[in-house]
Amino acid sequence: MVLLAGGAGGSTFAVGLRDVIAERGGHLTVICNTADDLWVHGLRIQPDVDSMLYGLAGVKDRERGWGRAGDSDRVSHELAEWGLGWDWFTLGDLDLGTHIARTAWLRGGVDVAAVVERLSARWPLGATLLPMTQAEVSTFVDLGDETIHFQEWWTRYRAKREPVAFANPGMDAATPAPGILEALEQADVIVLAPSNPVVSIGTILAVPGVREAILASPAPVVGVSPIIGGSPVRGMADVCLRVVGAECSASGVAGLYGARDDGGLLDAWLIAEEDAGEAAAIEGLGIRPVVRPLWMRDVPLTRALASDALAAAATATS
Ligand code: GDP
Ligand code: CA
Repeated sequence: MVLLAGGAGGSTFAVGLRDVIAERGGHLTVICNTADDLWVHGLRIQPDVDSMLYGLAGVKDRERGWGRAGDSDRVSHELAEWGLGWDWFTLGDLDLGTHIARTAWLRGGVDVAAVVERLSARWPLGATLLPMTQAEVSTFVDLGDETIHFQEWWTRYRAKREPVAFANPGMDAATPAPGILEALEQADVIVLAPSNPVVSIGTILAVPGVREAILASPAPVVGVSPIIGGSPVRGMADVCLRVVGAECSASGVAGLYGARDDGGLLDAWLIAEEDAGEAAAIEGLGIRPVVRPLWMRDVPLTRALASDALAAAATATS
């Protein structure tokens, strides 16, 4: 089984999917977004990879939804005393340990995929975690008068400044990280996590070769809507959708991914009970709508959602 995912929504869902797959004797490979990656104080940070790593390892701070549980921020305070750092981007002490290890390995010549493998080896994740690419292809946000890194727009400005466009310089020359094309080729099921469709899933699909590999795969492709009742749940996905001209709705995102029969990605699309009224519109796109509870409020609900996604895949024709 292969999952395409971002950070918060992606890692929450991945834990449920891993548990369900493990019960069935299968294996999960997660292809994780790296377009949020950035350099801070000379350290390489991979927000979505780290959320996935900590989530699968069971060491994520569940309340905040990111970072390590029980972390402290002594180092960040110390850096502030030196006039370094940004008050909108705090990194915990344990989290900084991850970034220092990652950067040390990168500086020592270890490639990005091998670094993620080393980080993954620390805990029994019960899944294979792959970065989407080894290339630096961060998302930049064009605000008209200036262009800033996605992370600054998202975290500092809480997506309140209206973007003109997103760009991922270097994406055209990027290649999928080792193992990705093989995983997609051998997948029995491909799942699109309830992640940001533009800046998490959209960037993974933009890595040359990834979309093509999914289209070429005989495996059914199932997605879980990140939009419930016309709202982006947690986060500001509505702004991202507006920028690419899609409606912030379950059917809007389905249209963005497209129907398999129509040159798009989806065989089936899980939508919330609140959005049952959009089922006909989704069917009209050529995608099979499956109405289910989509709130990942706790682990049992998340496992049930993962199980529903696999059931939808089993009945999807491809
Ligand atoms: P990020 O990289 O940290 O922004 O996280 P992702 O891209 O993986 O996921 C963010 C998206 O997850 C949000 O925009 C929400 O739409 C979605 N999301 C968060 N919680 C839930 C939930 O409980 N259910 C569903 N269906 N979607 C959720
Ligand atoms: Ca992210």
